Amino acid sequence: MNGNMMNHPLLISDLIEHAAKYYPTSEIVSQRLEGDIHRYTYKDANRRSKQLANALTHSSINQGDRIGTLAWNGYRHYEIYYAASGMGAITHTINPRLFPEQLVYIINHAEDRMLFVDLTFIPLLETIQTQIPSVETIVIMADSDHMPATSLTEGPCSVICYETFIADASETYDWPQLDDETAAAICYTSGTTGNPKGVVYSHRSTLLHAFASAIPEALSISSRSTLLPVVPMFHVCAWGTPYSATLSGAKLVFPGAALDGESLATLIEAEQPTLLLGVPTIWLGLLQYLKEHSIRLNSVENIVIGGSAAPRSMIQSFDEDHDAFVMHAWGMTEMSPIGTIGAYTREMGNISKEERYSLQQKQGRPVFGVQLKIINDDGEIQPNDGIAFGRLMVKGPWIIERYFNAESTALENGWFDTGDVATLDSQGYMKIVDRNKDVIKSGGEWISSIDLENAAVGHPAVQEACVIGIQHPKWDERPLLLVIKQQGQSVSKDDIIDHLSSKVAKWWLPNDVVFVDELPHTATGKLLKVNLRDQFGDHYINLQNSSPS
Ligand code: AMP
Repeated sequence: MNGNMMNHPLLISDLIEHAAKYYPTSEIVSQRLEGDIHRYTYKDANRRSKQLANALTHSSINQGDRIGTLAWNGYRHYEIYYAASGMGAITHTINPRLFPEQLVYIINHAEDRMLFVDLTFIPLLETIQTQIPSVETIVIMADSDHMPATSLTEGPCSVICYETFIADASETYDWPQLDDETAAAICYTSGTTGNPKGVVYSHRSTLLHAFASAIPEALSISSRSTLLPVVPMFHVCAWGTPYSATLSGAKLVFPGAALDGESLATLIEAEQPTLLLGVPTIWLGLLQYLKEHSIRLNSVENIVIGGSAAPRSMIQSFDEDHDAFVMHAWGMTEMSPIGTIGAYTREMGNISKEERYSLQQKQGRPVFGVQLKIINDDGEIQPNDGIAFGRLMVKGPWIIERYFNAESTALENGWFDTGDVATLDSQGYMKIVDRNKDVIKSGGEWISSIDLENAAVGHPAVQEACVIGIQHPKWDERPLLLVIKQQGQSVSKDDIIDHLSSKVAKWWLPNDVVFVDELPHTATGKLLKVNLRDQFGDHYINLQNSSPS
């Protein structure tokens, strides 16, 4: 027997209607590229999203059409999220940090009909405008006073200013009652090998992800929260915050392109956010600035750190210097993205700080809806003892089933292989050991490059660290540590190895430390280890050949 309840669709347009109606004065504040701060309310955002939906309709955009964005976090980007998805088209957020060839590939693969572009990315778009034949219209996200001179106007697409585009459009629009399995947004993975792959989120998956991530055991978002998502809206929808904040009527603060320590500190001082979200490198910059200027964060209660592992030193610094709790989170594009979060639990109140930091270094526990398991290469489930490593497999209602336009499923017996290697402990905490391809196999045992990197950045003279497994004449592979020194600091290889000796097992210690001026990163800020393995792959073989026999 079925239940007798309404089968009402879960739609993105209902989020903004709800916020506009019940939290009409909650603010969306944006640091604009033009230099000033823009502020308005959910009510205004809903009105302008409707104007944009009407303007898109007049431009003959249909349900299912892809609308690309090349944009920072800001109110116009937010309006596109709601207008395009709300009318049944598909918001395609494009990561502008990708190489131009990848951008061309993605725009052509998605067959974007329109592109909305922030002023910063116009030069980038100018270089590829002749290679993206599906794009008919480019909308520049500015008002008429800030329209730049651009060669885009001489290209094949029509070019229009955002404010002009919506100016005459009606503020009345009835959001269509779509089937909630309808595609709402598409985001491409930024794989380091092969072409990027499209992940298509539905209205249903987006809303379920928003419900699950807003609850107190997850991001704990309420109408009293003020969110500062530094994580970009061009990568996995800023971890779903434009939806989860709207669901709860929370105040949203968008930082635009100003992501350096000073700009973030200024914005935090002015807008008093309670919840910050971003990747570790962003917080390194902020913490450094705060320390240099003896500034303490007053409003911030929680900082969600994900995308790469949060180092212990960062967790400790936020706690001790700013009384702010780090919620370590893990997820991926294919998971909308949230999989696990380390919320503050009752148990954490009863353990020592050091024990708590160790727990916070793990990537947290699954949010309701996500299932995890770890398996070995034969597919056998590994024990949840916090020690056994395994391939991390996931399941859940906002996790991919197949990539955009792929003929076959992306699943293995109903589970998605994340490509991560992890441990699970008896309380359900997950710890990422490494990407499968980055784990170091030394003499038949595994070494976590992430753990070594985190231990290394705990040294005060280390700004950034990267560990790669490279060929070793005796042990198969051994770790090599690459270090960028803090400006003005001096430190030797032996100092660093000494520092690591008290933090990791002796056989994990890198055989060598190389000081470098910079480290390569992917478009989403992760260390690009493939290139480093190419560059330093023979380091130990060369060392052996050059040492006197
Ligand atoms: P992306 O799809 O670009 O967001 O990348 C997802 C990948 O980032 C995951 O599969 C992990 O390898 C990595 N990742 C995300 N969050 C964390 C975290 N908290 N700690 C370590 N790695 C992470």
